[in-house]
Amino acid sequence: MNNEWDTIVVGGGASGLGTALESASRGYRTLLIERGDFASYTSSKSTKLIHGGVRYLKQGNLRLVREALLERSFLLEKIPEIVKERSIILPTSSFIEKNYYKLGIFTYDQLAGSNNIRRSKWLSKEQLIKSVPYLKRTFNGGILFYDAQFDDSRLAIQLARSIYDYSGTAVNYTEVIRIDSKRKQIACIDHKKGNEITLKYKHLINATGPFLDRLCNLENSKNTKKTIRFSRGSHLLINSNRFKQKDGLILPRTKDGRVLFILPWKGIILAGTTDVEMKHLGSEPKVSNEEVEFILSGIRSIYDVNIEQKDIISTFSGIRPLSNQNSTKNTSKISREHRMFFSESGMLSISGGKWTTFRKIGEDTINFLEKLNHLKPTISLGHEIQINNHLKLWHQAEALYCKEPINQELIIRGRNLARSLKKEEYAFNAEDILQRRTRVGLLAPKTAKKWKPILDQALDIL
Ligand SMILES: Cc1cc2nc3c(=O)[nH]c(=O)nc-3n(C[C@H](O)[C@H](O)[C@H](O)COP(=O)(O)OP(=O)(O)OC[C@H]3O[C@@H](n4cnc5c(N)ncnc54)[C@H](O)[C@@H]3O)c2cc1C
Repeated sequence: MNNEWDTIVVGGGASGLGTALESASRGYRTLLIERGDFASYTSSKSTKLIHGGVRYLKQGNLRLVREALLERSFLLEKIPEIVKERSIILPTSSFIEKNYYKLGIFTYDQLAGSNNIRRSKWLSKEQLIKSVPYLKRTFNGGILFYDAQFDDSRLAIQLARSIYDYSGTAVNYTEVIRIDSKRKQIACIDHKKGNEITLKYKHLINATGPFLDRLCNLENSKNTKKTIRFSRGSHLLINSNRFKQKDGLILPRTKDGRVLFILPWKGIILAGTTDVEMKHLGSEPKVSNEEVEFILSGIRSIYDVNIEQKDIISTFSGIRPLSNQNSTKNTSKISREHRMFFSESGMLSISGGKWTTFRKIGEDTINFLEKLNHLKPTISLGHEIQINNHLKLWHQAEALYCKEPINQELIIRGRNLARSLKKEEYAFNAEDILQRRTRVGLLAPKTAKKWKPILDQALDIL
């Protein structure tokens, strides 16, 4: 690997990938460094919506919604195999509620303007029951509107590949352990080989999401400012036979004032999310029993089916890195807008943000970097940027690793495919393949468990 770079971006989640892609596409010699696998922390644990966010309308954040709707349109067009249209129904119980939400969704349509997917429409009680047969009969109708849905970790891999397409480099399993801002160099551990490397940079960007303050501390151990607050959001994946619906559903008000989504995704139902403020970060956030109960009771409050623990196929939990703008605010009320700031020694940090706006985060970050460093401005490709669309291996892997029984012929094919995923999609171990290159770990955890030792052996991990 080259030792000198114009831009080094630390963190291989949505924000870092978007920023490194923007930097590479604007001609900077760019390196992205991720200490685990790409998207392995927050960015593989989202609700999988590419959306303006109807709930942000309530917060009056029209600019954020409009910006995200523009990005939604760009992504639907650029990578239609990964980002797809998603119909969602919002059920209403009274005349007042119906008109209140109708106004909100109408505003959502208007903000999308010519980029709207389809116009929302009002559903009568009969139409609602036809679409969501197990819904309680207490609703008087609903509003059908359209957003988009995606596979977050797959998009991350395509972004890593796109960085290479623009002559940049993106490496995983490499961790920044020291920053020497006077010499403009960082020390990293290459976890694959176990050795330490030193790299020089002109511009250093901190896109470590929930770990933002920790990286700032590496740069300046006296810095104890807390710019990030952590909020855990959990999801349950449930057998879709228990729902029999092809549209998604949004419950606009849960007990804690959030929204609950019940969304068909890859043949099962994804339900969530929660919002639990956390004081400390663990290595892998876990779904608590209270959160499972919270989501299940939200479902039971609107459906006539008794979803139980045994219907849950798998669970996952992610940490929202939220800007610490107002310590008195409940985390669900903190704006999801991204922000950038420079530390005294010149590292640029990105906080907040959404998956949907990863490209805009990148564009704004590089603009900000050029402006504050008085660099000659380069021009962003904007929505003309290309996202790598090579998806053949993905389709093969998704089809193969969920097959049972795992016989000898399948094992040989699975091993060969794992080696190709290592070469072409930066997979290092079986977890990378089963949790992020494919979603077998979420969709069929028992099958994934059987594949794990076979794939680790094929990748020389065992
Ligand atoms: C529950 C939940 C649901 C969400 N749903 C949606 C949704 O439906 N739609 C949407 O648009 N957005 C959604 N979001 C928001 C979105 O997922 C996040 O904003 C986004 O993933 C954050 O990305 P990030 O790059 O900032 O952080 P991360 O994905 O956490 O990436 C930071 C990376 O930095 C790495 N790192 C840390 N320290 C170092 C180091 N020293 N060296 C190298 N690497 C390091 C970490 O390993 C990590 O991979 C959701 C978020 C959550 C939590």
